[in-house]
Amino acid sequence: MTVSVAFLDLKAQQARIQPELRRRLDAVLAHCQFVLGPEVAELEAELAAFCGATHCVSVSSGTDALQIALMAEEIGRGDAVFLPAFTYTATAEVPLLLGATPVFVDVDPRTFQIDPAHLESRIAEVRAAGKLRPRALIGVDLFGQPADWPALSHIAGREGLFTLDDCAQSFGATYRGRPLGCAADATATSFFPSKPLGAYGDGGALFTESAARAALYRSLRTHGEGTTRYEVLRTGMNGRLDSIQAAVLLAKLTVFREEIAIREHIARTYDQRLGNAVTTPERVPDSTSAWAIYAILLPDGAARERVQASLKQSGVPTAIYYPRPLHLQPAYRDHHDGAALPVSEDLATRILALPIHPDLTEAAVAHICDSVLAAVG
Ligand SMILES: *Cc1c(COP(=O)(O)O)cnc(C)c1O
Repeated sequence: MTVSVAFLDLKAQQARIQPELRRRLDAVLAHCQFVLGPEVAELEAELAAFCGATHCVSVSSGTDALQIALMAEEIGRGDAVFLPAFTYTATAEVPLLLGATPVFVDVDPRTFQIDPAHLESRIAEVRAAGKLRPRALIGVDLFGQPADWPALSHIAGREGLFTLDDCAQSFGATYRGRPLGCAADATATSFFPSKPLGAYGDGGALFTESAARAALYRSLRTHGEGTTRYEVLRTGMNGRLDSIQAAVLLAKLTVFREEIAIREHIARTYDQRLGNAVTTPERVPDSTSAWAIYAILLPDGAARERVQASLKQSGVPTAIYYPRPLHLQPAYRDHHDGAALPVSEDLATRILALPIHPDLTEAAVAHICDSVLAAVG
């Protein structure tokens, strides 16, 4: 059967939003305010309204959003920043760039989200060792689903930790009826082209309920500037979102809710058709997912290799998020205290992501399901 399947189809999406995209881009080309043009403020207002946050500050990438949030808390040398071992590199990179120490926490074997019980024991270990000051928790909403924010916030509140939600993969998801964006002291998201809400280049945003934090984020994204342009109050960075990217995102926001609904429909089809043959992802209770990634589990690494090769033969692209947990990465392993992280290590050997995006046809979804069933059968 010749069904062509793309892991991600940004061309098809572009064709769907073409008129609005053109109108938005032409407006930027007409006014030529390429940095902090009117689209940036308009986008910030729309994003804040979308997720119900009081403040939104757009920035140059999801990674820069994480960095600015930690810089605003003056996190650095001697500080422990707790984060999951099973996530994208950027989550651990940022505390290290600031001189702080990432403390890796294991994840739930079925939802893949950071494990609150293990977080508690990791905080206790760091306090007992007495070398680092527990300062912050970066909870990651992995693959489109929310982390267990009520449990995480409870622990962080008791321990006096700043909470940062790494929502790079999950903007558009909801938890207990509320969109992600207000679950932590600050929320960072990414507009990397492959994220559920992606720009045509790098971009990101920060959300917070705190006016003081929002003001710091605005200062930090423009070289630490004060109330006048050439007053430098603190060491900042060049971390703004371009007007062109804001224009692209404004066009994409017009279809974002529909796109999430289509992703949800595809996820349900996968759940129903594949649920007896492979381990499908468990839903976080009381939540909806943005479905950045739909990942199944195979029994072991050999099975994953077989299934991935068989799917490739059938024209079904797959991806592995993540083939190695962060504490085993060459760049980070010397910063790891040696704690066992068995779930993250196990997931890395047998997880496999199937295509999920709003331009997958019903025929493509059926072909993917047939191919997975044939591969494992
Ligand atoms: C993509 C991603 C980031 C980084 O976002 P960029 O915009 O690429 O810098 C951070 N954390 C997670 C979990 C991500 O998936």
